[in-house]
Amino acid sequence: MLIGHLPAGYIISRLLIRYAEPTEVSAKAFILAGVIGAVAPDLDMFYFHLVDHRQHHHHTYFTHYPVVWLVLLTASSAWLFTASKKNYAACASIFSLNGFVHMILDTIVGDIWWFAPWGSEPFAFFTVPALYKPWWLNFLLHWSFAIEIAVVVWAIYLWRKARHHKITVTATNAPTVP
Ligand SMILES: [Zn+2]
Repeated sequence: MLIGHLPAGYIISRLLIRYAEPTEVSAKAFILAGVIGAVAPDLDMFYFHLVDHRQHHHHTYFTHYPVVWLVLLTASSAWLFTASKKNYAACASIFSLNGFVHMILDTIVGDIWWFAPWGSEPFAFFTVPALYKPWWLNFLLHWSFAIEIAVVVWAIYLWRKARHHKITVTATNAPTVP
């Protein structure tokens, strides 16, 4: 997935904020934690370029092991259910959830080693044929890119809706001039 991770993280966090509200987490902190979690696995691109010198597919690093995100999600959910002060646990949970969703989204057209570190078989729902150069042009011209555009459009829609709601609430609460 090229451009969809960040907006997908925003959508999931925005849709789940109502369930997190009882934890007294601020919407801003919750959504920020969610968006960071959605892109966190791809921070391994720094390692890929600067340390590994593009020797291995970055999906083979532990940052793209689904089990890592599943363990984080389980641990943060346990923390969320048991903690008396839940706002930090809510942020950790949405961070981990979006990290795990990143694995699913990367599986659409990119190989993910779902059973790593035990299995060595990558999985992808669809294969993008290597027809063009540079490599990203193949993804850009593949039908699956329409999913990414749809995710971006959905995120913009939710963002505008939330912004409009905030403006309306602020205007309603503003003191009226006598
Ligand atoms: Zn990724």
